[in-house]
Amino acid sequence: MNKRIVESYKNKLAREEGFVVKRGAELKIALCYPNTHAIAMANLGMHTMYELFNRIPEVSCERVFLPDAADLKEYEKSRTPLLSHETQTPVRDFDVVAFSISFETDYLNMARMLQLSGIPVWASERNHFHPLVIMGGAASFLNPEPIADFTDVIAVGEGEILVHQLVDAILEQGSKEDILLTLARIGRGFYVPSLYDVVYNEDGTAFDYIPNAEGVPRRVGRALSAVNPKEGTLRRAMKRGETELTEFLKSQDVFCPSTSVWSPGAEMGDRLLVEISRGCSQGCRFCWAGYNYYPPRVVPARDILAKAAEWRSKTNKIGLVSTAVCDHPEISTILSELRAMDYRITVSSLRLDQISDELLDALVASNDQQIAVAPETGSDRLRRVINKNLTNDEIVDICGSVFDRGMLTIKLYVMVGLPTENQEDLDEIFVLAARIKDRMLEAGKLFGRAGKIIVSLNGFVPKPNTPLQWDAICGEKELKRRIKYVCKGLSRIPNVDVRFMSARIAHEQALFSSGDRTIAKVIDRAARIDGDIGRALRETGVDPAFHTSRDRGYDEFLPWSIVDTGLSFEFLKTEHEKSQEALSSLPCTAVEKCTTCGVCPSTWLADAPQNLINIQPLKVRQSLAAAI
Ligand code: SF4
Repeated sequence: MNKRIVESYKNKLAREEGFVVKRGAELKIALCYPNTHAIAMANLGMHTMYELFNRIPEVSCERVFLPDAADLKEYEKSRTPLLSHETQTPVRDFDVVAFSISFETDYLNMARMLQLSGIPVWASERNHFHPLVIMGGAASFLNPEPIADFTDVIAVGEGEILVHQLVDAILEQGSKEDILLTLARIGRGFYVPSLYDVVYNEDGTAFDYIPNAEGVPRRVGRALSAVNPKEGTLRRAMKRGETELTEFLKSQDVFCPSTSVWSPGAEMGDRLLVEISRGCSQGCRFCWAGYNYYPPRVVPARDILAKAAEWRSKTNKIGLVSTAVCDHPEISTILSELRAMDYRITVSSLRLDQISDELLDALVASNDQQIAVAPETGSDRLRRVINKNLTNDEIVDICGSVFDRGMLTIKLYVMVGLPTENQEDLDEIFVLAARIKDRMLEAGKLFGRAGKIIVSLNGFVPKPNTPLQWDAICGEKELKRRIKYVCKGLSRIPNVDVRFMSARIAHEQALFSSGDRTIAKVIDRAARIDGDIGRALRETGVDPAFHTSRDRGYDEFLPWSIVDTGLSFEFLKTEHEKSQEALSSLPCTAVEKCTTCGVCPSTWLADAPQNLINIQPLKVRQSLAAAI
């Protein structure tokens, strides 16, 4: 074994606290994050899965990372197989290799890690002596197809609810075939690609996925962690003074995802990260996180504050992780209690319409965060296309309340290449940026200084299971032109800086998020040639435009349709049609009576405990009973 690699791992471990080493456990799981240690340990999903696996007495779970540049050199020079972080055991000696993948952009790293481990990348080339390879995380269930041929099992849904079923099946079943069949037959939460034959039409589009074993469902349901209260249900109960229901909802035995390994060397390693809610109610039509985590659910304040109290002796910094921090019905209590504990608070993202004075005050007090807001585009019309229901006037006002607190630098997230976008929409980005800059300079007079408006410009990438999933990405040449045009226009405005993502990267992202099983060969090839995707496409003969640059018909069987997210086809189609007419829709209410998008009756309630089902209206209870 290479001494330098072992030394480097031990040095990192020496700075960490809370990691687990279990000798002689029945089941050894290598939990792999397809990026370096510093990035992986800032990912709450990684912390969560590590804690959940290690809570099971029969399981020993160790972490595995993509080696950083120095370690990678040593690995390649010494031909050492990839090692686990805790005990420096070769990854190929584990029973299970489980990847947690949050972003499609990490697919190449995932393939590279398998290659470095000496484990065949293609599932069909592995045998009984190889570990079971599992993929989980948001990217893998959004569209599992580009990585399907690498994988034995894909976890479809949220880890909290899947780990026990997974471990039970592995411990109870003898052979790999039996494990795969058992998991696939559950029908919800586990997709076994080898148990489906994909039938293609002559034009290369998928015709259908046919199960090739008895008892395997035609589509795999998404599994949701169901015990957390729905955001709207809790808010409504609190507002109406329904004390008994409020207390019942808050007293659920929820899992509160949070930092499990103290890792000061990692990005954001100096703070406790706590997930306070999951999902967002707004229904922005481009946003995969919104639709794929419906319905919005919360961790009760009680559990968040208990975690904060437990960690206070270690740190005075806390990061609240959520797609919509201010939507939490108990946000006031959370913020005031955290400030009483003298925590410096940061948040993972802010939704413009929901920034409260209370939260802004907390962020200013912590003096630790640059505020980033996402107008997405410069025109009110285009914002209605994507169902972001804010006007430019409101955006300028909200930015103003940030500036008036002395926070004079703000980051704006903007996209170009959105469906129906025209020249006028692009020009309105300049008008909006200039208005925000003027408002900043006005506030700056009070403080005797000026700040900056930093525009982060990205190309729009259509995502599976969103209403814009049928739209093509803007052609690479045209996207490049629009990015250049907007960059040039913004650079003429004083106090405005612009950072942008290239059109090529947007197209690569689109390929990995909307591709089918044929994309696997591109991933495998590119991972072997230093990530050169252009060359991999040429060598494999895959035409990226087929996957990214054509509008898809409503009757096309989309590659990701193998996963049943619960979102009804009719709902997505209506939202798509409304986008073309720039008509907005109401947000998800996240309350018990709603059946609007189809998720709650078909997924969330299907797994909910009986006492939560009992608060549903009779019609919903009856349809659930019929489904069982
Ligand atoms: S069914 Fe209603 S409450 Fe449930 S996720 Fe859909 S829109 Fe939200």
